[in-house]
Amino acid sequence: LKEKEIEKDMEKALEERQFYIVVQPKYDPVTERIIGGEVLVRWQHPQKGFVSPGEFIPVFEKNGFIEKLDMYMFEKLCMQMREFEREGIYNSIRVSINQSRILILNPDYAKNIEKMIQRYEVPVENIEIEITETVFLDEKEQVIEIVNRLKEVGVHLAMDDFGSGYSSLNILKDVPFDVLKIDREFFSETNTSLTSVLILEKIIEMARAMGISVVCEGVETAEQVDILRDIGCDFVQGYFYGRPMPIEEFYEKYLRNEE
Ligand code: C2E
Ligand code: CA
Ligand code: CA
Repeated sequence: LKEKEIEKDMEKALEERQFYIVVQPKYDPVTERIIGGEVLVRWQHPQKGFVSPGEFIPVFEKNGFIEKLDMYMFEKLCMQMREFEREGIYNSIRVSINQSRILILNPDYAKNIEKMIQRYEVPVENIEIEITETVFLDEKEQVIEIVNRLKEVGVHLAMDDFGSGYSSLNILKDVPFDVLKIDREFFSETNTSLTSVLILEKIIEMARAMGISVVCEGVETAEQVDILRDIGCDFVQGYFYGRPMPIEEFYEKYLRNEE
């Protein structure tokens, strides 16, 4: 029933701009300075109020609407980056955005992304695209080709939810990722066991040797940050450093008056 309701309202929601962008900061645990942000979608429904992405993203992935929403989010991000730049807020940090499997399967995807970046004249090196390993489940060769084309466009590429699935390591050897994002379940507040820390330390070591940086997600406590800093984790994202906030607030707070 809930699914039906979400489907009934989605097109109108897009037209009426009920979807908007929030951004969550990412920090360098050594310098304790912001180094980037992750773009996340929010849905403010006129009657139901806030609807969680955990509810509607799976529905949109099933019915295909995610393609429209993700492209809308990408364009909106480019537009806003351009707008901030005009207001004198320089896009000096990298922002990442989630893109679903369906988009990557479209042979025109890389071209569409390139067009968008050119249209809004955003600095391509400051855009990072997050995909999960499930993107590679079927039609692997085709997906690898599209992802490589994306790299040629110049965006950075992150593997999201690393460590939550089955074949992550396997994919690393075929795809030139720039960033690994460690799933928050892997290193949660209740799971800072010696074993997980040890595995994490080795993953970070391996990533470093491959020239890939590592972001740990869902970091909520100072204790977690201390451990991550000790084992050489490059970047940290989570409630400890900041919650997702509307994009206007994010740029005002972190980037106004910055070089
Ligand atoms: P994700 O990509 O793994 O995003 C991180 C999620 O963890 C976000 O949930 C964020 O709010 C949450 N989070 C961040 N820090 C903490 C923390 O310290 N503790 C805890 N418990 N949670 C934290 P959110 O915004 O509800 O998004 C859920 C998922 O929905 C995302 O997981 C992503 O897979 C998907 N999603 C969100 N926005 C988009 C989008 O624009 N496009 C697509 N395709 N998927 C999206
Ligand atoms: Ca993500
Ligand atoms: Ca994630």
